[in-house]
Amino acid sequence: MIAGIDLGTTNSLIGVYESGFPTLLADSNGKRLLPSVVFYGNEILVGHEARRMQALHPEETISSVKRLIGRRFGEPEMEGIAGTPGAPVTLALGGQNRTPEEISSEILKRLKAIAETRLGTEIARAVITVPAYFNDAQRAATKRAGELAGFTVERIVSEPTAAALAYGLDKLQDRSKIAVYDLGGGTFDLSILQLDNGVFQVLSTHGDTRLGGDDLDRAIGKLISRKAVLDSFSSSDGIRLHEAARTAKETLSSEEQTTILLPFLKDGESIEMTLTRSEIEEVCAPILRRTRTHCLHALGDAGLRPGDLDQIILVGGSTRMPLVRKMVAEIFGKEPNLSQHPDEAVALGAVLQGAILEGSLHHVALLDVTPLSLGLETFGGLMNVIIPRNTTIPAKAGEMFTNAVAGQSGMKITVLQGERELADDNWTLGSFEIPFPPSPKGAARVGVQFSIDADGILQVLARDTATGSEKIVEIKSAVEVSDEAVEAMLSDSLEHAFEDMDARIFTEARLKAEEMLPAVEAALSQLEGELGSGEVILIREQAAQVNAALTSKETARLKNALANLDNATQSLATRLIEKAMH
Ligand code: ADP
Ligand code: MG
Repeated sequence: MIAGIDLGTTNSLIGVYESGFPTLLADSNGKRLLPSVVFYGNEILVGHEARRMQALHPEETISSVKRLIGRRFGEPEMEGIAGTPGAPVTLALGGQNRTPEEISSEILKRLKAIAETRLGTEIARAVITVPAYFNDAQRAATKRAGELAGFTVERIVSEPTAAALAYGLDKLQDRSKIAVYDLGGGTFDLSILQLDNGVFQVLSTHGDTRLGGDDLDRAIGKLISRKAVLDSFSSSDGIRLHEAARTAKETLSSEEQTTILLPFLKDGESIEMTLTRSEIEEVCAPILRRTRTHCLHALGDAGLRPGDLDQIILVGGSTRMPLVRKMVAEIFGKEPNLSQHPDEAVALGAVLQGAILEGSLHHVALLDVTPLSLGLETFGGLMNVIIPRNTTIPAKAGEMFTNAVAGQSGMKITVLQGERELADDNWTLGSFEIPFPPSPKGAARVGVQFSIDADGILQVLARDTATGSEKIVEIKSAVEVSDEAVEAMLSDSLEHAFEDMDARIFTEARLKAEEMLPAVEAALSQLEGELGSGEVILIREQAAQVNAALTSKETARLKNALANLDNATQSLATRLIEKAMH
């Protein structure tokens, strides 16, 4: 199983693809969001427990470590953090220097433990998401963090790409354009994606790494202290106020009003007040308006206008605010897609990416029967059906093949799909070579087995039974054909049924002729002296007829000529056998 992980600045999530569904996994308290906070005390605490420590032990607690990963001191973004310019960022925590990778790995270890407890099995592989603007150093450091946590990191995926996958936008038409508006706890970014052959390309990305829900919490906190006429408060009161502001903000996304209750602040005061949605919207609007410029920038960089976008999707917890949704609709002149939980979309997309990598999920409609026959091209260019159309899957079938030519040292396996008699009229799904030692005609033994799993994935196995050497080729597109294409193939096969049958008979006759003519020639040169001249002339004449029929491509004529040659060579054949026995 490959886990999908959203390693967020504020919150992190883990999920897996389980019995056909992407599932995000909850901790023992039923919480799926794990705060990206680590506390280094006597023991290392992660998540909610670490966040509770933050007020009491700010020096030993670290949040938003994602801002530091893959960074060096002296980079513009590291303003305010002291260290030797150029050196990788480290932080003194709990009496030790820690790298952002190590700190992030604690978060990842916790996620891994949550998943393993919940599933009762080891989870060793993961897909981890990073912002689209992360550079190589930041991506590599994120990957290292995953490895420190004991994961094999199968892939680092951009967050907007993962989100688009979670919203199911890979099903959109090719060249569709998507804006991903991501407003999280501390960062904002807007990415423009384009779907190219089922893959999302990031056309542009723009944002502010210092703009997010935390800024809204601060503005709401100020509003609360203003309304309560608090001039100053201690730092631990400040943290409680910030917490209360955040809770109120989140409540007001679904309610029109809420009550703030903060008993026993440091100087003995208590706060109790009502806060309405429109009150907080007033203080949040100026902050949220700043996202507009970034949206226009990203559009400009991609050379697009708002009207060129096919979809706008929302990502990040802060986009749950109704005001954000309203502003997004205004900026792009189009309603955003609200079909997914915005704070879970990235993790869900990571899970889907993992499922695609592990092979449990394919971009194919799941079918329970094969829509078209599957087979091999045989010597002579005919279709040899191995699994007939409408076979219930999973299915397995095979056949033995041999070499048609002496000294042949391998066989080309061409996998076909379709209902036509001639290989060329069917679709080629793939081909490969199976080598074997040169052997006389008909001596090689190659077993070919087709198996289709429940997802409609075809695996072709070819084994040389003499040497045991084998090849397995997986053909993902086995049933990936549209209904119209299947219809067309079926109606073609009916329409051409007679021609096709004729073509097959002709080919079979041609193969027989190509085998017979050299054999007759060889026998004549060996026994010519023992035959009457009339008989020799007759045989040569019939052989010439066969050659002429081959050129004319007339099936009936070829079959006739072959029968005549067969007759004419009866006594030649008998003599040949007698001679061989003496
Ligand atoms: P990140 O990507 O930064 O890790 P998230 O996507 O988890 O963060 O977003 C966290 C932010 O979303 C926090 O500021 C939180 O207060 C905010 N948030 C969560 N739920 C809501 C809600 N219902 N209404 C408004 N904001 C919310
Ligand atoms: Mg996020």
